[in-house]
Amino acid sequence: MICSGIGYDVHALTAGRTLTLGGVDIPHSRGLLGHSDADVLAHAIADALLGTIAAGDIGHHFPNTDPSIEGIRSTVILEKVAALLAAQGARIINVDATVIAEAPKLAPYLAEMRACLGQALGLPVARVSIKATTNEGLGFLGRAEGIAAMAIASVDVPEPAPH
Ligand code: MG
Repeated sequence: MICSGIGYDVHALTAGRTLTLGGVDIPHSRGLLGHSDADVLAHAIADALLGTIAAGDIGHHFPNTDPSIEGIRSTVILEKVAALLAAQGARIINVDATVIAEAPKLAPYLAEMRACLGQALGLPVARVSIKATTNEGLGFLGRAEGIAAMAIASVDVPEPAPH
């Protein structure tokens, strides 16, 4: 059966960190703050995928109190989530996501993000859609205090056993 999942994440922008989005390091004056590489786009996608099999959220599987995953690249998290789905016989159909960032302009990096995410998920690039928008200057996103991402995933999940 086809199951859908949604994901949302936000991280604060701060000086002295590398900005990593969709597995791609992007030149910028600030990066996202977090226990991992704080790749907000990868995190939203991970939550969307986990949602398709009702497997909880990324914080449950990769707690920010776990020192063994400090600084982990979030593409590794996505590989682990994809493996979790595969172990349940679930097959990812597609992922669609939107990054909400006032700056930098992300258009030049979207193709590389799609390729990187597709590789982590074992998905053809044509099944990985990444879009970018600004918050039109409004609110904390508009003031560039952080970057947010939302994602949706469709996954072909085995029928549950009758009960
Ligand atoms: Mg996060």
